[in-house]
Amino acid sequence: MSSIKRDYYEILSVEKTADGDTIKKSYRKLAMQYHPDRNPDDKSAEDKFKEAAEAYEVLSNEEKRQKYDRFGHQAFSQGGGGGGFHDMGDIFSQFGDVFGDLFGGGGGRQQSARNRNAPRKGSDLRYLTEIDLLDVIKGKDQNIEFDTQDNCEVCNGSGAEKGSKPHTCPTCNGQGQVVRQQGFFTMASPCPKCQGTGEIIDNPCKPCKGQGRVKAHRKIKVTIPAGVDNGTRLRVSGDGEGGYKGGPNGDLFVEIRVKDDDVFTREQDHLFATLDIPYTQFILGGELTTEALDGDVEVEIPRGSMQGQRIKVAGRGVPSLRGSRRGDLYYTLNVEFPDKLDESEETLLREIAKKNNTKVLAEKKGLFGKKK
Ligand SMILES: [Zn+2]
Ligand SMILES: [Zn+2]
Repeated sequence: MSSIKRDYYEILSVEKTADGDTIKKSYRKLAMQYHPDRNPDDKSAEDKFKEAAEAYEVLSNEEKRQKYDRFGHQAFSQGGGGGGFHDMGDIFSQFGDVFGDLFGGGGGRQQSARNRNAPRKGSDLRYLTEIDLLDVIKGKDQNIEFDTQDNCEVCNGSGAEKGSKPHTCPTCNGQGQVVRQQGFFTMASPCPKCQGTGEIIDNPCKPCKGQGRVKAHRKIKVTIPAGVDNGTRLRVSGDGEGGYKGGPNGDLFVEIRVKDDDVFTREQDHLFATLDIPYTQFILGGELTTEALDGDVEVEIPRGSMQGQRIKVAGRGVPSLRGSRRGDLYYTLNVEFPDKLDESEETLLREIAKKNNTKVLAEKKGLFGKKK
């Protein structure tokens, strides 16, 4: 059920010790294979393309790679580097050099001028958020904030001032790229005149400086339901990147990461922990109140318990994401001996030993007396 992120080295099929050149080569190969121009309208290829770019972004940067080697994906769990690419354009603008001339430099996806001007949906965004295990039990309203882009309402994304219109670039005839022959190869590069847009804007729209896009800051409250697990993705419809030229917004996917708890571990809907029990209770049985994740819990210790024995506390695990039932809490019993015995305790224990004909060391040098 969980879609945990794949290891970056595995994604790029390189050894952990691979040098920068090897990593770059391998990324280049994958980028070519899954390039959107070669896989039009193929969502899985696009995902692979993005995944590879994310891996390359981290492994090609010395500092980020070191962090990743030490902390894994956790190193980037709250935004920052390695947070993933939301937009194909980001990938091209950042790694254009890796593609070289093969796909038109940093120009990215080739689109005809007509296609470029049609309204289209904004990109889906992914946001990683970390919660505690207790939040998994109770559910949580999480406030999240991030920057993205919206369509410029003033020019409706055209980039041209109100009342004016962009005109077709004469250098590339609106194609956005110029093609030249070099040896056997036909090389395409972005049109220098229009920077690949295919259009010339004489009077740029002021609010967006002719970009057709404006900065947007989203501040939203996401209701995280109880029972979520590592890798659970919540879709927040319409809170992704703004649409282009009046197209609909993309969606926001909030991916959950559950922080490791110091005491409790989770397996499906059950929780597990170790519980220290005084040796007397081990032998004689009894009741004990201890702190579970969500408040106190009464534990019944059976008479004659064994070290490592498991006690079930029904219904104190994690709620099921699909139903209202909660899983169970399991304590593994661990016998706890006193660090020190006072005189009367020592006397009592010696009496028991004597009664059972158990040979013990002479007074004051016993196991308990010496223990720190
Ligand atoms: Zn504008
Ligand atoms: Zn042009």
